[in-house]
Amino acid sequence: MRYVQVDSQSDPLAPEGQVPSAAREHDMARLLGEELRELGCDDVVVDEHAYVTASVPASAGAEDLPALGLIAHIDSSPDASGADVRPHIVHYEGGALVSGMVDGVEVATTPDDVPDLDKLVGQDIVCSDGRTLLAADDKAGVAEIVALLVRLRDDPTLPHPCLKIAFVPDEEIGHGASLLDLERFGAAWAYTVDGGPLGEFSYECFNASEAVVEVRGLMVHPGTAKDIMVNALTVAAEFQQLVPAFERPEHTCGREGFYHPHRMEGTASQATLSYILRDFDADGIEHRAQTLRDIADFLNMRYGERTVSVRVREQYRNMAECFAGCEFLIDNALEANRSIGIEPWIEPVRGGTDGAQLTFRGLPCPNLAAGGYNMHCEREFVPVRSLELTVDMLQHLVASFAVPQSQKG
Ligand SMILES: [Zn+2]
Repeated sequence: MRYVQVDSQSDPLAPEGQVPSAAREHDMARLLGEELRELGCDDVVVDEHAYVTASVPASAGAEDLPALGLIAHIDSSPDASGADVRPHIVHYEGGALVSGMVDGVEVATTPDDVPDLDKLVGQDIVCSDGRTLLAADDKAGVAEIVALLVRLRDDPTLPHPCLKIAFVPDEEIGHGASLLDLERFGAAWAYTVDGGPLGEFSYECFNASEAVVEVRGLMVHPGTAKDIMVNALTVAAEFQQLVPAFERPEHTCGREGFYHPHRMEGTASQATLSYILRDFDADGIEHRAQTLRDIADFLNMRYGERTVSVRVREQYRNMAECFAGCEFLIDNALEANRSIGIEPWIEPVRGGTDGAQLTFRGLPCPNLAAGGYNMHCEREFVPVRSLELTVDMLQHLVASFAVPQSQKG
């Protein structure tokens, strides 16, 4: 409740390379730095980019084992207002979950929107007042990690390896952990605590590329254009019509990939189309890039060489391929869920995570649930019980790393 009241929304319009993207993220970083110091953590650093790192020494007997990282992000999504968040607890008794009233209209979630609500009857649920997002994404993850550290401090008999904690800015705008110095961080492997409902677990994400399609038209006076003019806007529209129509975000789910045009601009003489391409398969993402090139070739045959060009840039890759040899990261997480009575499910992330980036930089990092629902909007909520159970789950998880991983199975 305290963390969500600190406005630390990231800013997608900040100049590229400015980290944190919004100065207000420092407020959250400073607060967490102070709390980690009060908790007696070692090596607490709050740096100029609003990264907070700290370590917790291993419990007795686990001193020689590799350190385990726990990571959450301090920024909240720019998709809805994150200023002046006023959290409150709703005792949910079924039907619509009402976060609050805005201009006389209820801001509510129904069991049709979120079928899990049926399982939450009788529980206390943290909501915003309906004017802002709650920022449980990812303040819930931050709170759960800090709550775990409080438990470990209060009960030195709880087993765990050396823990490396990182709270990072700007995850919501795509480069959260990019400035985390992994050598200094010192973890052998890690988890982000940034997923959805309790039980969700992810170690797979999209392969992601960005494609920019440039169309060069041939302009002449419209009055004398017959059989001469090539209108770039017309060709751009034609290009988009040739992209497979059912492979769009609005028609895909689960493990299906897509082509998503997110920007189109231009004049009759020049036009630009920007796409993001997503696919869980490495071959699949290459195939999508090739499809765009094939469309360009086809249009160039019709309208002339170099009318259409396609540039494709890789953004991030599916981290699943990196877990060969450290499958225990997956097994231990699933087991930690089962030990609190939750049957976990594996959710391929239809987006990227900080963990994917870290995994490719050499820190294998699957994503654990933080417990929230309806992220990135005013109806966001998190059940209190999910917060508590996640701390229990984390306690089991860190214990499973207090023995050598090679001795398992
Ligand atoms: Zn998040």
